[in-house]
Amino acid sequence: MNTVPHRQPPPLEAKSPFELRVNLGGDLPESDVRTALATGDMGFLHSFTTGSTVDGPGVRVVAWTTGCQFRCVYCHNPGTWTLTNGVPVTIDRAVQQLKKYRHGLKAMAGGFTLSGGEPLMQDRFAVKLLRAAGELGIHTALDTNGSLGERLADSELDEIKLVLLDIKSYDPETHRRVTGTEVEPVLEFARRLASRKKPMWVRFVLVPGYSDDHDNVEGVARFAASLGNVERVDVLPFHQMGRFKWKQLKLDYVLNEVSPPPTATVERVCSQFRAQGLVTY
Ligand code: SF4
Repeated sequence: MNTVPHRQPPPLEAKSPFELRVNLGGDLPESDVRTALATGDMGFLHSFTTGSTVDGPGVRVVAWTTGCQFRCVYCHNPGTWTLTNGVPVTIDRAVQQLKKYRHGLKAMAGGFTLSGGEPLMQDRFAVKLLRAAGELGIHTALDTNGSLGERLADSELDEIKLVLLDIKSYDPETHRRVTGTEVEPVLEFARRLASRKKPMWVRFVLVPGYSDDHDNVEGVARFAASLGNVERVDVLPFHQMGRFKWKQLKLDYVLNEVSPPPTATVERVCSQFRAQGLVTY
């Protein structure tokens, strides 16, 4: 008797978000992908990881979504750019996965962070998953590049406890050079979060020769300080941990020769934020 080889569903949990995962949802019909995006009944995830202490307060479980419209030159996870590189996951399966962590997270005063990729590429799934986490009594955070913030209604935004907003740059030209996209929608989302008094952490990736210019940093710092809802700024020094993925995916990586920023530059940038009254990490 002939048997058809059965493809095992990929595991949802990964040791690290740095694992390269591709084409895990590639054979889904286009119409199923469209329905998933419209309803949020199914999403595409790179993975769940546990034990993060940098993606929100306490110890975090993080779900990493796939799909991103930015093309950051330093992206450490370009495998997440394509939606169907992720594992197709029903919302029920994702919530069941979350339930496994519920008691541990409460004991450690931690929470759940939805990151990516860009989670709002799958805004309906994001809303459903974050809402389910909230209903389980789990603290929720959304880590976003902010450019698709208008996809969330005010009431949906209000349900999320914390937004981690990646501001890649303040200067429009630098933002285009770093991400390939416009900065204004990001700043507009930040202003909206401020008007709703939504607790926010700003994340700023420091890339020598790209985002480290004094005036550019000053722009981000003054803007963040003007908002009134920024609880802290995470200055994230560029690293080369994602370089191998660019190579494996045959993408053109322009930062081959760029080293992580020296300590003095990181300190200078942190002091620029602190000079505006912001707390930096
Ligand atoms: S926004 Fe994040 S996932 Fe998207 S390209 Fe930039 S670093 Fe990569």
